[in-house]
Amino acid sequence: MFERRPTRQISVGNDSTGIVLIGGGLDSTTPAPVSVQTMTAGYTHEIDTCITEINRLAAAGADIVRVAVPERKDTEALTEILNQTSVPIVADVHFHFKRALEAVEAGVHKIRLNPGNIQDRDQVNAVIDACRDAGIPIRVGVNEGSIIERKDKEQRKEELGKFFEKGSMGGKHAMLLALIIAKLEEYMDIFYERDFRDVSISCKSMDAAFTVAAYKEVSKRFDEPLHLGVTHAGPKETGAIRSIAALSGLLTQGVGDTVRISYASDPVHEVEDGLELMYSLGLRERKGVELIACPTCGRIQVDLFTLVQEVRQKLADAITVPIKVAVMGCVVNGPGEAEGADVAVFAGNKRGIIYVQGERVANVAETEILDRLLEECIGFQRRVQAGEAELGEKVVEIVPPDPIGELGSGIDIIASGNVEKATGLTIKKT
Ligand code: SF4
Repeated sequence: MFERRPTRQISVGNDSTGIVLIGGGLDSTTPAPVSVQTMTAGYTHEIDTCITEINRLAAAGADIVRVAVPERKDTEALTEILNQTSVPIVADVHFHFKRALEAVEAGVHKIRLNPGNIQDRDQVNAVIDACRDAGIPIRVGVNEGSIIERKDKEQRKEELGKFFEKGSMGGKHAMLLALIIAKLEEYMDIFYERDFRDVSISCKSMDAAFTVAAYKEVSKRFDEPLHLGVTHAGPKETGAIRSIAALSGLLTQGVGDTVRISYASDPVHEVEDGLELMYSLGLRERKGVELIACPTCGRIQVDLFTLVQEVRQKLADAITVPIKVAVMGCVVNGPGEAEGADVAVFAGNKRGIIYVQGERVANVAETEILDRLLEECIGFQRRVQAGEAELGEKVVEIVPPDPIGELGSGIDIIASGNVEKATGLTIKKT
């Protein structure tokens, strides 16, 4: 649906992890699906915990997992971690270029360097050479928080002065953007001079609007694939909005080849939300259930919030084909969504009416809705896998003479009493 910006293409991983392509469209390559990354939250040197976390993130659907390697003991842990995981691993390197060399030696699949804290040309060249020999790419990852000089006091003063100058460039954000572009161009020149093009770029900020502006500018100036993210977005509750606002703004304009949504919470949520963003924008083929649920209102007659959460959790484990499942609170929109879904339930007066591809299969008490819905979903999945049913197909339309079809939907129809007549349910008057 959205035309992707053509980029160079890089690949991460190997035969044992599977190869994840990032970007594409230039040099006769085809753009790869936008990949979803995350980062472990625990210490890398706590090997068993780190392996468990990586495997949990991979099971949640992460295409690539990044780990921090601040100390020698972290890079020493990598060999064992790589032995016991099967997803491409990126070593996140700051300050110490030797950590990058050690990580390459251990066999990681990609290195991330921060131009804000590894600036020595010889050190960068040493990492480039090691990555070239190992055949792995590098991400040049600029962060708003580390772009301004920290070690050289005079330079820092000068950069901060420019940063806060509100002049012809339009204030703080324009100045920051200029600084990011200047540093990126300077840094990327090291790679170009070394003729190393196996690179992706990121330029993260905690400000969603600035993130969009920065990546758009970077996308005009560089043909490397872009890793999108809003850094330090905060807890999931608020960080989700900030991240999705920025990433959707860019992805719908074709900018972005791999993403990380970052939350101050369990990184599994980063993976789940990153994937849901891709599915919602049609950038990835959905795996597993697409869950539709109403927000509930004064017409609700079952505990729908609990039911939806239980359905979500159970189906995430049990269903691997992209079944569309609707969980609706009442007859107002229930029949309509039931028509459009593969498996659906709509509730009324402590009961649930369950449909499979438009065919009414059950009318059960509230306490039985979850189990029966799961049973129907699993049975439907089995039929799809056996080639006996097709996703999105409608076997039976919910139209007259089906009693619910006669009712249609809407508050007037509820008010008329037809719902009760046809279904035998008592509709609570509001
Ligand atoms: S389906 Fe019914 S309960 Fe749910 S929001 Fe719509 S009217 Fe309200």
